Amino acid sequence: MSDAPRKICIFTLGCKVNLYDSDAMLAVFKEAGFEVAEGLEYADVYILNTCAVTREAEKKSRQSIARVKKINPNARIFVCGCASQRDSAQFERVGVEYVGGTEGKIKLAKDIVAELLSGKQLPAADFSTSSTYEDSAGVVNLRTRHFIKVQDGCNNFCSYCIIPYLRGRSRSRSIESIHAELDACLERVKEVVVTGINLSAYGKDIGSSLTELINTLSDYDLRIRLGSIEAGVVDREFLDATTRLKAFCPHFHLSLQSGDGEVLKAMNRRYTPEEYLKKVELIREYYPLAGITTDIIVAFPTETEEQFENSMAFAKRVAFSDIHVFPYSSRSGTVAGKLKTLPPEVSESRARRMGEVKQQLIDDFLALSMGKPQEVLFETVEDGLWVGHTRNYIKLFSENGGRNLLREAVPTSRYLDGVKE
Ligand code: SF4
Repeated sequence: MSDAPRKICIFTLGCKVNLYDSDAMLAVFKEAGFEVAEGLEYADVYILNTCAVTREAEKKSRQSIARVKKINPNARIFVCGCASQRDSAQFERVGVEYVGGTEGKIKLAKDIVAELLSGKQLPAADFSTSSTYEDSAGVVNLRTRHFIKVQDGCNNFCSYCIIPYLRGRSRSRSIESIHAELDACLERVKEVVVTGINLSAYGKDIGSSLTELINTLSDYDLRIRLGSIEAGVVDREFLDATTRLKAFCPHFHLSLQSGDGEVLKAMNRRYTPEEYLKKVELIREYYPLAGITTDIIVAFPTETEEQFENSMAFAKRVAFSDIHVFPYSSRSGTVAGKLKTLPPEVSESRARRMGEVKQQLIDDFLALSMGKPQEVLFETVEDGLWVGHTRNYIKLFSENGGRNLLREAVPTSRYLDGVKE
């Protein structure tokens, strides 16, 4: 490949599933002998794996093209993902070479390799959302924490969410294929994060379940963390399965979206705040110090001031260890997309107030966890200090870390070993 492009950069926006898809594509390029960029840096070829979950994410996806062109004006640019699935024209207009959608990303990577190395023309983009799972066993990523995608798509159609229209119906990966990927990364990683677009739906299409999948992982000597789950999946059978894992991480990202029952109904979420709270209590019965994190949307079009206050009060009642606060973002094509949005100042004020609740809850959870023995997995460096996470997902800093190093610690603040804030 003397005159052929040698360096590939895959720039990923959005969720962990997109990140996983990018890793699967990178594996194809590595196998074909390409050099892989570590971040958004100079490369001959760029693949932009885009996101459409909010307007902001979509805007960033478009802006990434300008960023790439600034780094290398002669770069060859290929676009795929949710934003280009939703509206391919917005990328075609800015002069990129190829625009695809959410499906067949591994095949796309193989087709691009064939095009770059032997001039074989890329097939036309297919914007259908297929009903089969694209297998990616053997994917090797560059991270110390390995994200393993076990499910794609979603059948829930929450009223604000564009994802089911872009990623298609829920489909699950076979347990054999998941085991094959775990076996391949056993030597290299100490933690895996089991992810999906709607992880709780795992197995429903193949006569299995998330609990059954967890039961099959009990022999793996790895820290196992779950990606975002729905409250409905939590029951004793599910929690019993987690206790049988060798190193389960008691960190539950339990999607809430609103703490008000009426808003939940308008969002087409299928639980009440009371039902949700019962699941939280059950988790704490098994894991008193569980990290329970969530997503909350503020300023949903029908959300009144009183309902927003209910949402804040509920967040405090649950005592989340962290909250991702999202100001509502209208997506055309969704049911809620037809509703009139609230004024921007209402949205900003609610995001700020929920942000204050979040900060207080983070501090409270940190205080609760101090002085207790914790296992920390160090992975990266920030401002000269090693950064690690406990099993219940508290971020800690130390001078004495190491890449992929597991260490016991009894933290008295976020800063271990006498390193001061
Ligand atoms: S569960 Fe709801 S929010 Fe999550 S991907 Fe499915 S439709 Fe979207």
